[in-house]
Amino acid sequence: MIPTPYYLIDEARLLENMHKIARLRELSGAKALLALKCFATWGAFDAMKPHMDGTTSSSLFELRLGREKFGGETHAYSVAWSDGEIDEAISYADKIIFNSLSQLDRFADKASHIEIGLRLNPRFSTSGFDLADPARPFSRLGEWDIARLEAALPRISGVMIHYNCENRDFDLFDQQLTRIESEFGDFLRKLKWVSLGGGIHFTGEGYPLEKLAARLRAFSERLGVQVYLEPGEASITQSTTLEVSVLDIVDNGKKVAIVDSSIEAHMLDLLIYRETAKLPQEGDYPYQVAGKTCLAGDIFGEARFAAPLQVGDRISVQDAAGYTMVKKNWFNGVNMPAIAIRRADGNGTVELIREFTYEDYASSLS
Ligand SMILES: *Cc1c(COP(=O)(O)O)cnc(C)c1O
Repeated sequence: MIPTPYYLIDEARLLENMHKIARLRELSGAKALLALKCFATWGAFDAMKPHMDGTTSSSLFELRLGREKFGGETHAYSVAWSDGEIDEAISYADKIIFNSLSQLDRFADKASHIEIGLRLNPRFSTSGFDLADPARPFSRLGEWDIARLEAALPRISGVMIHYNCENRDFDLFDQQLTRIESEFGDFLRKLKWVSLGGGIHFTGEGYPLEKLAARLRAFSERLGVQVYLEPGEASITQSTTLEVSVLDIVDNGKKVAIVDSSIEAHMLDLLIYRETAKLPQEGDYPYQVAGKTCLAGDIFGEARFAAPLQVGDRISVQDAAGYTMVKKNWFNGVNMPAIAIRRADGNGTVELIREFTYEDYASSLS
């Protein structure tokens, strides 16, 4: 048995998402790029590559990882490129998307042999969190002024518009896309491609995939553009668990199970967005599941079990792929979860693909 803590990627579950992506591509004509900022566990890329067109990135390192480990189309985006990065960036990318007109002015000449795009901010979004809302006041994420967009025109062949956030509501997507068509349609018609970014939760239970495909196809035909999608969370949702073990149980008015992991170190988004982990909820024995760091609020959440917990019992925390492995850190020096994959080979073989040691911890600082 693999020692905890470890992230366990279920390849069969991952493939369910991949098959939905492949179907959407086929029905809509849109291309799908994995957003590496959400999920960059390259040990799982072999299962994903056949079903997606490539990757998109938010930095030079993500861009390079996409080129080297995933292949296919490689889009390069960064909120701001530095002089020291740009030559290397364009050596990996087949499209580079600048965030601002000033970055475009600065670097477009260097990138003139590949396709160039600009980020368009439609100034609305579906994000409920100010922290993650690209349309927040004074947002630095993209251009919206038509005169500035037009000024980019001779140099760009497309735009990237990322404005959805775990949007499960097709009707809302449809309405907002109509708004983009009416506000920016005349401009978009002059381009070859439009990326609609990520954040559409089309691999979720019950999402009307066919309607989405038809809507994307209509958008593409109306404007004469190749559509791209950049699914991050939708690519890997529900595919991965964080496997932990109970180290101690304390009872100070409430039973608290302390496990060999930490939300701050291993599931940071729970802390940032004040969410609780997806834990077992069946049975008569309630516990609070908490991490082992000295942060008082290092709490996964409330859970219920069929029997009283014992030291050594294992617990699976659901949905631990997106924005999770990419954010793990060495807070408190807690050992990083290993990474394992349950292969979709019929036998359910679990393969340990990466372990972390004291040397990794020490070498992350000096
Ligand atoms: C974050 C991001 C994505 C992926 O978003 P998900 O919500 O994980 O699908 C795609 N494109 C851009 C530009 C992003 O910033």
